[in-house]
Amino acid sequence: MTKHIFITGGVVSSLGKGITAASIGLLLKERGLRIRHQKLDPYINVDPGTMSPFQHGEVYVTEDGAETDLDLGHYERFTGIPCSRNSNYTTGQIYHSVISKERHGDYLGATVQVIPHITNEIKTAVASVTGDDVDVAITEIGGTAGDIESLPFLEAIRQYYLEAGKENALFIHLTLVPYLHAAGEMKTKPSQQSAGVLRSIGIQPDIMICRTEQHMSEEHFRKIALFCNIDRNAVIEEKDIKHSIYEVPVELQKQKLDDLILKLLNVEAPEASLSSWKRMISDIKNTADEDKIEIALVGKYARLKDAYKSIYEALDHAGFAFRTKINVNRIEAEEIEKKGADQLLKGVAGILVPGGFGQRGTEGKILAAEYARKNNIPFLGLCLGMQCAVIEFARNVCKLDGATSEEWLPEAEHKIIALMADQVDIKDMGGTMRLGAYPCVLKPKTLARHLYRTEQVDERHRHRYEFNNNYREIFEKKGMVFSGLSPDERLVEIVEIPGHPYYIATQAHPEFKSQPTKPHPMFKGFIKAAIEKIESNL
Ligand code: GLN
Repeated sequence: MTKHIFITGGVVSSLGKGITAASIGLLLKERGLRIRHQKLDPYINVDPGTMSPFQHGEVYVTEDGAETDLDLGHYERFTGIPCSRNSNYTTGQIYHSVISKERHGDYLGATVQVIPHITNEIKTAVASVTGDDVDVAITEIGGTAGDIESLPFLEAIRQYYLEAGKENALFIHLTLVPYLHAAGEMKTKPSQQSAGVLRSIGIQPDIMICRTEQHMSEEHFRKIALFCNIDRNAVIEEKDIKHSIYEVPVELQKQKLDDLILKLLNVEAPEASLSSWKRMISDIKNTADEDKIEIALVGKYARLKDAYKSIYEALDHAGFAFRTKINVNRIEAEEIEKKGADQLLKGVAGILVPGGFGQRGTEGKILAAEYARKNNIPFLGLCLGMQCAVIEFARNVCKLDGATSEEWLPEAEHKIIALMADQVDIKDMGGTMRLGAYPCVLKPKTLARHLYRTEQVDERHRHRYEFNNNYREIFEKKGMVFSGLSPDERLVEIVEIPGHPYYIATQAHPEFKSQPTKPHPMFKGFIKAAIEKIESNL
């Protein structure tokens, strides 16, 4: 039977619940348990797919093609266990399903209400990550205790816990213990009150994890234990870390959080060694500040750090492998249109153009791809980044004037990027994309094949438009190589330019599959080439 851990947050948002949940997942996985992660989001959008990255940050895509919350990226990066569409539910999705059932008459004339209909639907969602192949499911509840929106979720997990019975479920509450600089003291009152909010709706936390800037004293631990009604050893400190978020599991393990969880759930499992993880952390700590390279990321949402979360993480992972810090210079694509590529990109070790939607900023991305190609700067294009790279090549190498994408100019003559003829037309803004994992066959003797060291790979997608096959011949004649194709050879997946130190672009989003101890080959190759570029200039 699957045991369940519910993680809630209190006092303020942005405490790092996702990283804490991911760290707990890693610790339990390393102890040999089969775990699954899940996130319940209180917002009303059915999924984050239609939200602006400014609102929500990155949309993380799962193997099975769900557009989900970026916390799922943390779960996968920490544990390496793929999430699925059952790993993320929103209020919108829950209501959508209840309302559809009501319209089908499934409730047999009953008045449909938050309790029990919505809460039952949430319980079904929670149960969807359990099963014979799962020892422990970890469900994170988005939002902060006390929010109106979270209430149905909290009520549902209260009931779930009650029905599962003690030893089969536990509540972990993550709060803030602020340090008041003016008073020179740490304050436990917000945490006490937050646990009180949960108690008032029938949830008694089993473990409190306290986010702090400074170490807590024994008195703080005892105070929180006493007023939150838990054991002293069930109060865990999660102090801000110095080097990397990947240190969090190690810090939690030092405080024996995993032992405590297993004791409360009455599960026996061997100790977690975390050996490769700890080696990676020591590599991070031993990387000197001067061992750094500058990578330019030319995007539309460069201002907002969360918009390209998985890309920044994947770059860091590749940096860990070479003990090199990655200094990402986040450049707004439109700035390149205004100031020119040379002014903003001169001297960078590598240029990365990420995915995106719509035309704004694309001319800047095209200029960045041209600058990288002509100046032998390592280049990695991802999804829209690949589309911009091939459009640049069409205009400047194949001399196809006005080459563009159907997305920006449907009536253009040279639509290098276009909807495939057999694709349906787009009416509904959700669900019309190529989403999730698709296979790609790698051509022998190409950079792509050399990087992956295998014949066929799966990468995740999230896009509507594809390379237009009418242009394959002229591109190949002019020196671009289509090094990755779908198994039926109809879709171009990876392109590259031989002779350039590193010029590769993919229609997929490889960033979603990179892990700190297993950097993605395309990112690893990119960072390696960038380091070599800098060394060749020394
Ligand atoms: N807008 C492009 C398309 O839909 C690229 C999408 C992306 O970069 N994720 O094909």
